[in-house]
Amino acid sequence: MKRISPVILLALALSVAAARAGGQDLPDLGDVSQATLTPLMERRMGETIMREVRSDRAYYEEPEATDYVNQLGNRLAARSADARQEFDFFLMQDPQINAFALPGGFIGVNTGLLFAAQSESEVAGVIAHEISHVTQRHIARMIAQEKQGTVTTLASIAAAILLSRVSSDAAQAAFMFGQASAVQGQLNFTRDNEREADRVGLQLLDKAGFDPRGMASFFERLQRATGVYETAAPSYLRTHPLTFERIADIQNRLQELPYRQIPDSVEFQLVRAKLRSDLEPPREAAAYFEASLAERKFLSEGASHYGLAASALRMNDIGRARKELAAAAKLLPPNPVLETLSCRVARAAGSAEGTAACYREAIKVYPRYRALVYDYADALLQNRQPADALKVVENALETQSSDHRLYLLQARAYAALNKPLAQHRAQAEAYARLGNLSAAVEQLQIGLKSGDGDFYQLSSAEARLKELRRLDAEARRQAKQK
Ligand SMILES: [Zn+2]
Repeated sequence: MKRISPVILLALALSVAAARAGGQDLPDLGDVSQATLTPLMERRMGETIMREVRSDRAYYEEPEATDYVNQLGNRLAARSADARQEFDFFLMQDPQINAFALPGGFIGVNTGLLFAAQSESEVAGVIAHEISHVTQRHIARMIAQEKQGTVTTLASIAAAILLSRVSSDAAQAAFMFGQASAVQGQLNFTRDNEREADRVGLQLLDKAGFDPRGMASFFERLQRATGVYETAAPSYLRTHPLTFERIADIQNRLQELPYRQIPDSVEFQLVRAKLRSDLEPPREAAAYFEASLAERKFLSEGASHYGLAASALRMNDIGRARKELAAAAKLLPPNPVLETLSCRVARAAGSAEGTAACYREAIKVYPRYRALVYDYADALLQNRQPADALKVVENALETQSSDHRLYLLQARAYAALNKPLAQHRAQAEAYARLGNLSAAVEQLQIGLKSGDGDFYQLSSAEARLKELRRLDAEARRQAKQK
């Protein structure tokens, strides 16, 4: 007997209700949300939820893939009418095909989506749809209706999202929690919201130079997959009801758009190969790339060689990694993903000088590529050159002052230089960037008690402590008020 998850039933009930209320034409949803929930409040909510998300095991903080989804997402978001909205794209290590939008422009993309898509335009289609839920303020409106924007509710939103992501069994577990499932119900978008996000998303796809047909082809494939798996419906469908009507709507709109064939970017192919070689056991990943090359069944020959090189490095086969990397470099234009792997191979080969030379050259060409900056600083720290590592990190901080990982590297460098005040201050800045203000305050207190630092450093740290205490108190007050 087939069981249908209560969450799916809930989603269905909601979309039926919405369809009855909705009527045939796209309603003007108006701007009712603005009055009750400001974009700043929404962003703060998103940050609170992100603290939970970041501590989830599936949160996947891999700089190359994360930089890629941010590049792709921001290229789309730049074409939206509301260019002031800030966006942050992040990855979840999850085989289910899904992407989801949180309050405040935080958009999660499952690794499963990147693997299941057959072109970059398909991935862009799903992300453009999520961006549109944010810019059309669908989420703000849902939360405004909730009326209990307390921190407990926020925590349960996060719990519901994380649980529903994992599997339908877990979603049922969430249902048992009662409150969490009620919030999950709130997070299911209505049919009108879905149509509006499709319509606006298609415009973004087109304006950003992707193939708008990518949206339709991907949704059709999702729907066919559902026919086969029934109750194991991909989690995407639970939060974004997908109907024949909706797909027909997209196809009608496509008729107004010119046909165009858009080749996938090199980064898209490389990042997919990177994810496979990172997430699968290296032997299996290598076998996959070997077979794809032998049968010439690949979307990009260069990316298959790159994937093979990355898998060989994981197995510590330096010779093979070098050979495959050279083959990839012959087929692909110069790019930071290849450079990063090539420096990693140099590092694994054991020559400190060769490693430093590789990173130095690569960073000249790609000064803002995070994977290179992190790796280079880490290599220097391991080679007991903390002063050099500090230079690399501080140079990057000039343009990326919100990156908590840079502060963690800075703290390691100061620790190695035996400067406890600066070390704990850097640690405090990392916590502050992660939204954990109490931990940031605590770190500064430890630093100030260490007996380290000159007059200038001490008074600067004291001023920062005062500011962080004020922000922490403010955040606590806001949490209580609601
Ligand atoms: Zn949707």
